[in-house]
Amino acid sequence: MSSIFTKIIHGEIPSYKVAETDSCYAFLDINPLAEGHVLAIPRKEVDYLFDVDDSIYSDLMLFSKNVALAIRKVIPCERIGVAVIGLEVPHAHVHLIPINAIHDIDFSRPKLSFSELELQATADKILEAFESA
Ligand code: 5GP
Repeated sequence: MSSIFTKIIHGEIPSYKVAETDSCYAFLDINPLAEGHVLAIPRKEVDYLFDVDDSIYSDLMLFSKNVALAIRKVIPCERIGVAVIGLEVPHAHVHLIPINAIHDIDFSRPKLSFSELELQATADKILEAFESA
């Protein structure tokens, strides 16, 4: 059975897309720790990040960097924190989270809630920054 993230890539489940390339896709996390909390994933479904083959792993890391630069351009923050957890969804993904302090990337904190309009506006501005880089 396909992962939730494969269904997102195929448009079977909606997502707020912020960037895509031939091998990778990025979208807003549904339960964000911060405005602009993004998940960057390889299109190819592999559960564990360190089982991803070298070529796609390299693509994903470079993609994550470029998405982080786009987020940083449009979301005021000190820097973009990076985390890999993977305990919930068995499809490798990199969390990119705007942070100002260490607790901003604490996954045990309550998640934030934004309206659909706010999420769309956030996704649109990251996508625009990514595509104009
Ligand atoms: P992890 O596997 O890294 O522990 O957590 C998976 C992450 O994916 C969580 O932050 C969760 O909010 C996010 N997530 C789970 N299901 C969905 C979904 O259907 N859509 C989106 N946009 N994010 C999801």
